[in-house]
Amino acid sequence: MSIARQQSDSNASICQTIGGIVLALFAASAYAGEAAVDPADNGVDVLQDTTIDTDSRSSETSAVAEQMITPPPAHEPVGPLIDAVEDARGKAEALQLLGSEIAPGTSERLSWAATELFEGVPVSTPVLVVNGTQPGPTLCLTAAVHGDELNGIEMVRRVFHDVDPKKLSGSIIGVPIVNVQGFRRGSRYLPDRRDLNRYFPGNPNGSAAARIAHALFTDIILHCDALVDLHTGSFERANLPQIRADLRNPDVLTLTHGFGSMVVLHSTPTIGTLRHAATMAGIPAVTVEAGGPSQLELVEVKHGVKGVETLLTELGMVRRMRLWGDPEPVYYRSSWVRADNGGILLSDVSLGSTVRKGDVLGSITDPMSNARTQLISPYSGRIIGMARNQVVMPGFAAFHVGIQTDDIPAIAEDPAPVEKTADGGYVDGMSE
Ligand SMILES: [Zn+2]
Repeated sequence: MSIARQQSDSNASICQTIGGIVLALFAASAYAGEAAVDPADNGVDVLQDTTIDTDSRSSETSAVAEQMITPPPAHEPVGPLIDAVEDARGKAEALQLLGSEIAPGTSERLSWAATELFEGVPVSTPVLVVNGTQPGPTLCLTAAVHGDELNGIEMVRRVFHDVDPKKLSGSIIGVPIVNVQGFRRGSRYLPDRRDLNRYFPGNPNGSAAARIAHALFTDIILHCDALVDLHTGSFERANLPQIRADLRNPDVLTLTHGFGSMVVLHSTPTIGTLRHAATMAGIPAVTVEAGGPSQLELVEVKHGVKGVETLLTELGMVRRMRLWGDPEPVYYRSSWVRADNGGILLSDVSLGSTVRKGDVLGSITDPMSNARTQLISPYSGRIIGMARNQVVMPGFAAFHVGIQTDDIPAIAEDPAPVEKTADGGYVDGMSE
């Protein structure tokens, strides 16, 4: 597997010379630009989707900030975690998947292809299955829906390596590289530049993206009782390991309680995301964000694995594999702090930093005039996502602040998912 394809951090290579800056600019554009997407312009020049842009919000998360929400009363689990996902009781049975039968107490590596022939050449991706000796729910793990997001691939490998089918209750299905075509090219997108994570649950007669989404959804996702979709930040941005979940959904809320000590960010799912489609189909789903794209980051990988293994324990699927107490705070609001000037962005904070309103988050220096401006946090909270040091344009989303609030947010009676935007759904700062 060629996951050794690590992108060197182009930001670290920014030189003092003008030539170096030009090179860095080139590197930055080449990086994002395999689809020529500059996060600062929301990628509108690339993804000519037909969706009408009725949504002027600048990011998924600022939309969250606008939309005050309320969890179920008292923010308590609505019932035992297992009740949120459990579907199978009684005797362990053989698992039927992709035309194979996986007997209780065994594990298998299957192969899944969205279509028999893609571009005339078979394109398949592995599907890992562990079927336990005891009955229980089926938990699914998906990674690399965006082909350049590598941390989740390694998380899936580690989780499966640690599970003993003889000691498992229920089953685990893992698709470590969903977007195998993007993965091969080191790209977030499919070869047609579409974002696969805007096309679920898919359409068998639609675009290539819609067909792939439909096949994955019907062949695999509908077999799940709960889903964890593993992602990273996008376009030279990294995320503090965190769960993104629609906390208005009681089953999803309950699922988040299983992860132990991981930051939870309430996030209204965008239409077309796997998280949204699965939840709409009655399969509670969360996204785990950890680290940035195009790199394998051990600390983030371990954090994600610990969260998933804690979930397996809390679901009763394994016996005390991990337990991770002291839950992190839940952030109901977050906001991106944007660059008002172009230039070289250098951070003064790191992921996970606690910041106060008025704190300096970083600076942007004009490489020609040497003029420098500071980025100031308008909120007290925690840095839950941030851009790597790089050359930025005005408007660039640089720091993602999870906003502390003591207030339980007000009720939104009729939660509406976030609509796709004109560019097919990518807004800068969004990663899922
Ligand atoms: Zn992603």
